[in-house]
Amino acid sequence: MDHAVLTINGGSSSLKFALFRAGARVVSGNFERIGAGEATLTVREAGGTAKPQAVRAANHEACVAILLDALRARGLDRAVAAVGHRIVHGGSRLTTPQVASVEAMAELRRLMPLDPEHLPAEIALVEACRSAFGRAAAVLCFDTAFHAELPVVARMLAIPRKYYEAGVRRYGFHGLSYTYLMRELGRAAGERAARGRVILAHLGNGASMAAVREGRCIDTTMAFTPTAGLVMGTRSGDLDPGVAGYLGRTEGMSAEQFAEMASGRSGLVGISETSSDVRDLLERESRDPRAAEALVVFCYQARKWIGALAAALGGVETLVFAGGIGENSAAIRARCCEGLACLGLTIDAGRNERGDAVISPAGSAATVRVIRTDEEAVIAEAVTSFVGRGGDA
Ligand code: ADP
Repeated sequence: MDHAVLTINGGSSSLKFALFRAGARVVSGNFERIGAGEATLTVREAGGTAKPQAVRAANHEACVAILLDALRARGLDRAVAAVGHRIVHGGSRLTTPQVASVEAMAELRRLMPLDPEHLPAEIALVEACRSAFGRAAAVLCFDTAFHAELPVVARMLAIPRKYYEAGVRRYGFHGLSYTYLMRELGRAAGERAARGRVILAHLGNGASMAAVREGRCIDTTMAFTPTAGLVMGTRSGDLDPGVAGYLGRTEGMSAEQFAEMASGRSGLVGISETSSDVRDLLERESRDPRAAEALVVFCYQARKWIGALAAALGGVETLVFAGGIGENSAAIRARCCEGLACLGLTIDAGRNERGDAVISPAGSAATVRVIRTDEEAVIAEAVTSFVGRGGDA
């Protein structure tokens, strides 16, 4: 039978999708700059390349209608038996992939204040896909789920306890990527390595790290929101809470404005004043001191966090780089590991430049790896476990 699984991964102004048949990706692609009046759609047939084309997509729902047309044009629309959605926040209760039941959707709506940046668009996407792919099952996959078992010592924020009891705690994100990386680590390095002391570094526009021991996540850099932890493209990472009070008093900055600044205008773009994109900054760093400084601060904070997570783990045996920066930039990988020989972390320049799977020297105390992450594959697999390999609901 011609059953397929569609994966939907909505960002604030982007939407990635992929169509899997019998576990293999047949079509994938993405929408970019949704709502900016210059949105584009790129559709790639298995393994091929494609050029972005301009589309009229004012919001995520409009993208679903365009996607449906694109699949119809390829005779694939009726093959969709289930749709798997990446959901950034599942709160404390939604901790395993599950069918988008009335109860699960009500819980997501209840959680909206926890993540007003992502959840409204993600809920709208689930509903838009329901109308577009009527008979297809909808499955929710949560980025927070990987961190569901964080020990209390890592999940508690040191503010009055009543807030912890009300759900203000470390949740952690990027869990679908981490799930993939752990699986690939087990496959590439063996179960023994995957059950050891592992630091996963997902460095993309959003960036975070997770410390994993015996297969369980024991700490992670993002916290109550994805703004915490590492310096990122537009997010500040960890910040002295006193800054909010100071800017409130001196500039009349509201809590909303502060959150928008810390998440949308800080990090690499805040320091460089030109770009949130590591490629741009690498290209400019030799002539633009602000671009150079942005990269220095990014790499310094990443090194500090590797040290912190190594301390939480009691040492580190494997460090994995992933995400757009971690997978593609040898220079940033090398800078993030500079001076960490004290933790057994060293880089072989030749292997790093080539982008080998293992970039530490042979026989070094800890192994440094590069793994190309694949959140869509994790979603498709979770969906398949619900609806059967053939896609039968
Ligand atoms: P997102 O979190 O939006 O999925 P990605 O994982 O695609 O983002 O990562 C985007 C980041 O990866 C950008 O900062 C981009 O500059 C960086 N990047 C992509 N390719 C390269 C490269 N070849 N060299 C350096 N940085 C790169």
